Amino acid sequence: MSITKFIQRLLKLKALSVKKFKFKNWYKELWLEVKPFKNGALCPHCKKRGKIIHTLHEPRIWRDIPVCGREVFFTYHPREINCKIHGRVQEEIPWAALNARVTYRFEYSLLIYSAIMTQKAAAQLLKISTSTLSDLLHRIITRERKGHKIKKLKSIGIDEISYCKGHKYATIVYDLDRSHVVWVGKGKARDTIDWFFKNKLSQYQRKRIVYGCCDMSETFIGAIERWCPNATLVLDRFHIVKALNEAVDEVRKEEWRKADKSGKKALKGLRWLIFRHSSNRTEEETKSLKSLYMGNRRIHRSWVLKDEFEQFWEYSDQVKAEEFFDSWCKTANRSRLDSIKKFVATIKKHKKRLLPFIESRLTNAVSEGLNRIIKIIKNRASGFRTLESFSDLIYLTVGDLDISDQIPARFQAI
Ligand SMILES: [Zn+2]
Repeated sequence: MSITKFIQRLLKLKALSVKKFKFKNWYKELWLEVKPFKNGALCPHCKKRGKIIHTLHEPRIWRDIPVCGREVFFTYHPREINCKIHGRVQEEIPWAALNARVTYRFEYSLLIYSAIMTQKAAAQLLKISTSTLSDLLHRIITRERKGHKIKKLKSIGIDEISYCKGHKYATIVYDLDRSHVVWVGKGKARDTIDWFFKNKLSQYQRKRIVYGCCDMSETFIGAIERWCPNATLVLDRFHIVKALNEAVDEVRKEEWRKADKSGKKALKGLRWLIFRHSSNRTEEETKSLKSLYMGNRRIHRSWVLKDEFEQFWEYSDQVKAEEFFDSWCKTANRSRLDSIKKFVATIKKHKKRLLPFIESRLTNAVSEGLNRIIKIIKNRASGFRTLESFSDLIYLTVGDLDISDQIPARFQAI
């Protein structure tokens, strides 16, 4: 076996043969002069053979995955061909995408690493800088998602998410049946979501949407009602629970402000306890909440109301759920707690958007699962500065297109 053949086998090089090799930079880099395996030059656009016009004087360089700590580079002088359809073009390079500076298998490793570890760690493994890594990632994802179409969207979830240390917002659109993200857009205003409906879905697709799930903001409700004529709106359970929790917390805060030193001491640590769903509380904790009945009637009252409302989500019969809803609202309205009364007014206004939950059981909870992943992504990058770098990782990890699977199968190896 010749030494070049040996290198080829050892490094599992595909679609090319090694002509020469040399080490550079005190053996830190291995440079391989390569050539495509097959004879004949193909047009990169139509894959048809074209007549070779000439060979480029300057070699092109591609970075391949590092081997045992050494960086690996390919060099090759591409040929220009005359394609009957596309005219004068540079031949197709079988080991790399058009105009790419790295090989397919480098791209594949980059995608897999980026999905499971911090960008810094991925960059270290690949021996490139973090900024190069995020540039490359953006190129690959943009290339692979180009012309990508959303398919079979029936239950749509819309939510907002913050990035860049909470300074900036993006709108995120979920396919709740398949639980993945179909789109990420800049900002959280109406024009962002309008743009999505107008440009990413056809009229036919919009008509086929059966359910729309979002928070209580008029922005998303308005957009779903405007663009999806056949969709039933289901307000997201988690946003409602959150709003009620905040109302209860408002009562707690008021009482805290009024309390004297010993009163404050008694109210300490209550915040998280109040937020907790009854099924997640220990007996001890429930006891201490009950003791509030003697200690602080107002907080106690708000907490009891909050606990009672949990029952609403358990109903499977819409009529019974509605009866419960009405009676709960009535009781809550008599509570003489302003923040609770405000909450009642809000959910009463949205009653017809709340009740469909009973039959559809639809929540952005799938997206809640996705949100957890997105949060992990956010933490990993410790605050994205641009929406692109943030949405790249969302598309990569929870998007509707398997990006790494778009790399030609024979180069899908790490
Ligand atoms: Zn062509």
